[in-house]
Amino acid sequence: MLLGLAGWVIVALALAQIKADPAVVPLLVGGVLVLVTGILTLVFGLRCPKCGGNLGHVLAWPPCPFRISARIQRCSFCGADFDSVA
Ligand SMILES: [Zn+2]
Repeated sequence: MLLGLAGWVIVALALAQIKADPAVVPLLVGGVLVLVTGILTLVFGLRCPKCGGNLGHVLAWPPCPFRISARIQRCSFCGADFDSVA
């Protein structure tokens, strides 16, 4: 999630400066790539270690964007306890 937020910040900063300095276009492209990588990681890269269920939707909108809620303790697909799954 932080990767996506970082990409969003880079894109916003580059868009704010693009009229004043067209040389920020590579920064804009890099920010879009970071943003897309963060979104794809969130959507496809977060899997339950036991059943392989996609956990991206569970973690997509936590109460705090900088940490995973302590209330999320089990896989929503198989019920595996995240503290005991190795
Ligand atoms: Zn699971």
